[in-house]
Amino acid sequence: MSADCVFCKIINRDLDADIVYEDEQVVAFKDINPAAPVHILIVPHKHIPTLLDLEEDDEALIGHMHSVANQVARDFKLDKKGFRVVINCGADAGQVVFHLHLHLLGGRPLLQTIAKDRGV
Ligand code: 5GP
Ligand code: ZN
Repeated sequence: MSADCVFCKIINRDLDADIVYEDEQVVAFKDINPAAPVHILIVPHKHIPTLLDLEEDDEALIGHMHSVANQVARDFKLDKKGFRVVINCGADAGQVVFHLHLHLLGGRPLLQTIAKDRGV
């Protein structure tokens, strides 16, 4: 928990979000500025600033985040046509929220490269 972190605020219900999935380890909610028809963020309850801050004990958590991405992709009917999962790490990747998260993007052909595709 980090006091000035927007995703910690969402996890603690101090800030509203359109939550589509939650369990004891992660929450998933709609991105406020979607880059695709489906744009969901999968966020661990644990405040980990960036991918570089992962500890050995977090390896199962990262795996679980991907399993949740699969589940949410199925829930939003993305499993037939496909989807993209992205983690931005640090300044050059355009990370703006320093609480680890997966972007799940789909619902349209994602033809461009990740970099050209509005940074996600
Ligand atoms: P990053 O560039 O850090 O990987 O992406 C952060 C994402 O969080 C952005 O796509 C941005 O639109 C989203 N975001 C930032 N603040 C909020 C918020 O308060 N609520 C929601 N739902 N999404 C947010
Ligand atoms: Zn946080």
